[in-house]
Amino acid sequence: MTHWGWYWKIKKQHIPKQLCSQLPSVDSFVITKQAREEQKAVPGSCTIIYGQLTQHVSIERNPCNYGGFRAFFLCPQCAQRKRMLYISTRITCRSCLKLGYHTQRLTPSGRSLVRRAKIERRLTLRSCFAKRGVVEVRR
Ligand SMILES: [Zn+2]
Repeated sequence: MTHWGWYWKIKKQHIPKQLCSQLPSVDSFVITKQAREEQKAVPGSCTIIYGQLTQHVSIERNPCNYGGFRAFFLCPQCAQRKRMLYISTRITCRSCLKLGYHTQRLTPSGRSLVRRAKIERRLTLRSCFAKRGVVEVRR
């Protein structure tokens, strides 16, 4: 017989992670897109200013297989290559702030429902484009 007392004791003390969708964020791909639109080179570093927070962040270029490159931030705390930086008491990556995703809080059945809704939404969009003659659907 299994004793579950320890499990419930630990579960009561569990504090759920803060979600990254609740915090303001900075996307490195947006900086690349803006630089391309303005026909400027992507800078090697940038300064993120949010309210009273100011953080100098390095930008790393990652070459793509078919040419071009993608720009990623180097997290100021862990120095790992990250696309998104989140703004809390400091400006760092998701793992440094110990943030979680919304789907990590769902049960397995809840995740499958979200996945199903996502597939249904894609199929609906595809059929809408097929009616307009934008996308050809082959069967
Ligand atoms: Zn980090």
